[in-house]
Amino acid sequence: AFLAAVRAREPKVKAFVHVDEADVRRQAEAVDAKRKAGSQLGVLAGVPVAIKDVLCTRGTPTTCSSKILKNFVPPYDAHVVEKLRAADAVLIGKTNMDEFAMGSSTENSAVQTTRNPWDTERIPGGSSGGSAAAVAACQAPLSLGTDTGGSIRQPAALCGIVGVKPTYGRVSRYGLIAFASSLDQVGPFTHDVTDAALLMEVIAGHDRRDSTSIDRPVPAYTKSLGEPIKGLKIGVPREFFDAGLDAEVEASIRAALKEYQALGATLVDVSLPHSAKYAVAVYYIVATAEASSNLARFDGMHYGHRTAEKTDLIGTYAKSRGEGFGKEVQRRIMLGSYALSSGYKDAYYLKALKVRRLILNEFTDAFAKCDVVMGPTSPSAAFKIGEKSDNPLAMYLSDIYTISCNLAGIAGMSIPCGFTKGGLPVGLQLLSPPFDEEKMFRVARMYE
Ligand code: GLN
Repeated sequence: AFLAAVRAREPKVKAFVHVDEADVRRQAEAVDAKRKAGSQLGVLAGVPVAIKDVLCTRGTPTTCSSKILKNFVPPYDAHVVEKLRAADAVLIGKTNMDEFAMGSSTENSAVQTTRNPWDTERIPGGSSGGSAAAVAACQAPLSLGTDTGGSIRQPAALCGIVGVKPTYGRVSRYGLIAFASSLDQVGPFTHDVTDAALLMEVIAGHDRRDSTSIDRPVPAYTKSLGEPIKGLKIGVPREFFDAGLDAEVEASIRAALKEYQALGATLVDVSLPHSAKYAVAVYYIVATAEASSNLARFDGMHYGHRTAEKTDLIGTYAKSRGEGFGKEVQRRIMLGSYALSSGYKDAYYLKALKVRRLILNEFTDAFAKCDVVMGPTSPSAAFKIGEKSDNPLAMYLSDIYTISCNLAGIAGMSIPCGFTKGGLPVGLQLLSPPFDEEKMFRVARMYE
């Protein structure tokens, strides 16, 4: 049924970059054979899951929607993919994304621009736009994305579904092609909070192959979901309701906060001045610095595209990278190399790390006064294709409310909370202290 939905809706939605129907059937049949043999089945037995094309899948192309990895077929599975297979899920296909996860609209994909299923003239958000659109268009009930500065929460908000950015260290990044290693996390897209909790139970947990993976037991998130939280305190950062916030989005968020009050929650005024003022600036130094280093491995020698015009070694590197990387990726490599260069490192990179610490400190202070922080996920609903693609700064600002969560390493999620008058979904963002996803899910579930 899901393959039929993919076939029917792909011409309009363009969520996938790779679907191999025969392979999907083989996987499903293998699970069915297991069932018939009376073996114990995993919790996702037979459930299709779509995978962002930044996660390695053994024997299946993994391209990051980039020309430079056009013919790359990994010899191994990412940790989260292993976990899905062990739970008997069926991998239905690889989803479109902004090249190397750099963007907020999927317009930076070298393959295609994914359309928002609610209005196909509009973007689905990014960078995990394909994974979000696939779930919103019911081409898959579940999908995985990655979130470095908002790439799960923002597309979830714009496509009217649930998206989770787990605490840094909660989910292994082994087999995730790195963008900014101190920020990247893998997380689920689902239709509701229960599915998100279930998928997190499958993918979370310690893995020795990722040195930032934390060895802590994974709570049974689905078990405690129904329990309401007595005396719930919700922190509302006053800076998240500033001039840049669309009035209709603000109205939906305020209405959601009222609902929570009706459910017994107390709203607490909190302040995140550094997040509001500096998060975007800090992010574009830290993320580009790390990206410039991570992307050095794509040199036309080890993987992917190599230029036909080979010259000497350096010339071949330069030509291969020039042909293989898109404009936004090149822009970020240049920004990052500049911020790390000897004359500028102190002024930019080291300064950014200090402000990053201040952002974490102000979240720690805020969480001393409340259980979760709430606000908008994105300053506006889905925008038109092409509307911001010539203006990188306007595009960068669409992550203003999501980025500080990654800089602080805390957990966050977006849940649907209504529509604009034009019928576009709006997302409510919940932020929780590190490793408190269990409480965050319970709070999110109360709203459903
Ligand atoms: N939109 C942000 C960027 O372009 C965040 C991307 C992400 O989370 N992968 O970098």
